[in-house]
Amino acid sequence: MLIIEDDATIRTAEIRALNARGHSTMSTSTALEGLQQIIAQTPDVVLLDLGLPDLDGQALLAMIRSVSSVPVIVVSARDDGPEIVAALDAGADDYLVKPFAADQLEARIRAVLRRVEVDQPTGPVVVGGLVIDERARTVSLDGTDLELSPKEFDLLLYLSQRPGVVISKREILAEVWHLPYGGADKTVDVHLHWLRRKLGESADAPVYLHRVRGVGVKLVAPS
Ligand code: CA
Repeated sequence: MLIIEDDATIRTAEIRALNARGHSTMSTSTALEGLQQIIAQTPDVVLLDLGLPDLDGQALLAMIRSVSSVPVIVVSARDDGPEIVAALDAGADDYLVKPFAADQLEARIRAVLRRVEVDQPTGPVVVGGLVIDERARTVSLDGTDLELSPKEFDLLLYLSQRPGVVISKREILAEVWHLPYGGADKTVDVHLHWLRRKLGESADAPVYLHRVRGVGVKLVAPS
């Protein structure tokens, strides 16, 4: 955890409170040193005082966000609504108004860390005999690795994240091909065709990939 706070009394109190709750802390009193530490030390959470001597807190937030997605809890001395809103808009994850109780700080830290965990890609997606590993970008079917093209992989991954749900070609074009205004429906059909071949099935004899006429396609585990 990194504390960026220019007031030595507050900084010491925060370090003490967080260490007592089992966090390891680093601290600095200036924005630019804080930014350097974020890059060099990759802390799990940043506690950022908005009123720093060398740089406006919002400007620093923008710089942090250009290099890191670390959760940032903004600490503001003033109960200043617009300033807090601006900090949240600039990419802060939460805020606290001074003075605050140590338990309150701890609760906010736990909350942002929980959110980070939820956002992490989880383990492989398993649908029937299909195992799709997003991080390794590998797919196996009944224990045999499949060779998929990048787009075939993206398409299968996207469908596997909501098994049993019918997904329209328009949505697939928007989410997998990043073509939000639709267009080349045939592209999806062709990739589905290739994907079916690799899964050892066909549109007429589906196992995993089921066409729902006029609506879209769904991935289901074979019954
Ligand atoms: Ca300050």
